[in-house]
Amino acid sequence: MVPQLIDAFERKFYYLRLSITDVCNFRCTYCLPEGYKPSGSPKTFLSLDEIRRVSRVFAELGTEKVRLTGGEPSLRRDFTEIIAAVRENPAIRTLAVTTNGYRLARDVASWRDAGLTAINVSVDSLDPRQFQAITGQDKFRQVMDGIDAAFAAGYQRVKVNTVLMRDINHQKLASFLAWIKHRPIQLRFIELMETGEGSQLFRQRHISGAIIRQQLQQQGWQQQPRGTHDGPAQVFSHPDYQGEIGLIMPYEKDFCTTCNRLRVSAIGNLHLCLFGEQGIPLRDLLADDSQLTQLKMRIHSGLQAKKQSHFLHQGNSGITPNLSFIGG
Ligand code: SAM
Ligand code: SF4
Repeated sequence: MVPQLIDAFERKFYYLRLSITDVCNFRCTYCLPEGYKPSGSPKTFLSLDEIRRVSRVFAELGTEKVRLTGGEPSLRRDFTEIIAAVRENPAIRTLAVTTNGYRLARDVASWRDAGLTAINVSVDSLDPRQFQAITGQDKFRQVMDGIDAAFAAGYQRVKVNTVLMRDINHQKLASFLAWIKHRPIQLRFIELMETGEGSQLFRQRHISGAIIRQQLQQQGWQQQPRGTHDGPAQVFSHPDYQGEIGLIMPYEKDFCTTCNRLRVSAIGNLHLCLFGEQGIPLRDLLADDSQLTQLKMRIHSGLQAKKQSHFLHQGNSGITPNLSFIGG
């Protein structure tokens, strides 16, 4: 029997972030400021069958949660089929998507019917003009309608990702709080991360989430205890608010000690960390069901090389040119 996924530092991995495309229709300043440009020879992204196999193998290795990401995952025409294929594995109890929200209003009900259990939508500003300046798309209203549609389709809660940027949205806590007062939204401020292409923006705009934490605490928000299966967010709640605030602070000491996730890129490479390594090719073992045992062995032995920390503090931005490349 192949053992479960545990690394040399005794961390257990039950969470897979699966990128299904690099393509995106937004041009977020911190991710794809010039828009998506295919690099080098044309790439084909994992097929539906390859996605079915990779999720089956991870499920057999103890994965309980999969997140579909990209690029913009919902741009794939077979996105609903992908959802259904991943949910063929009963062990995968949570199947989430991280999306820019562009297709939500139109498609979220069919995603839910196909088995999608959780939704994260990226919204960096509640001001339509600033939203457009950040994303390059005049789609604020469409994304807001999409979030409403997710509630209407039956999701009890929606998570929103907001990249925290100095002088862009770091002083807008009051308007974010007003927005979640009567909505069951967990709004998560993610500290801007330095990428290979984003060093200048990082120097200009990075600000620690500690500034938000301080304001929340002053206003009576309480930090929730962290469950063993929770992600890296520090979550705060307040009796007067239906929504919650999460803080994701990758530059904080010991962030990596709670790492429980692995990533597979849209071209089928296993990434042990978001930052700084080449990835272990899996695709040659995804062509046929008969290769699945070999595939498990490769994932397992690859995991032993996972480092203790991302070493971002030492200025390591790794080879990741931007987060759309292996899925943020
Ligand atoms: N296109 C989808 C979206 O935007 O939600 C999914 C892919 S996107 C790469 C995943 C998440 O990574 C988004 O919430 C985005 O805001 C975040 N992200 C991208 N670049 C980032 C950076 N340099 N620092 C912090 N978060 C980043
Ligand atoms: Fe596209 Fe998401 Fe990157 Fe924005 S953060 S450019 S929506 S992949």
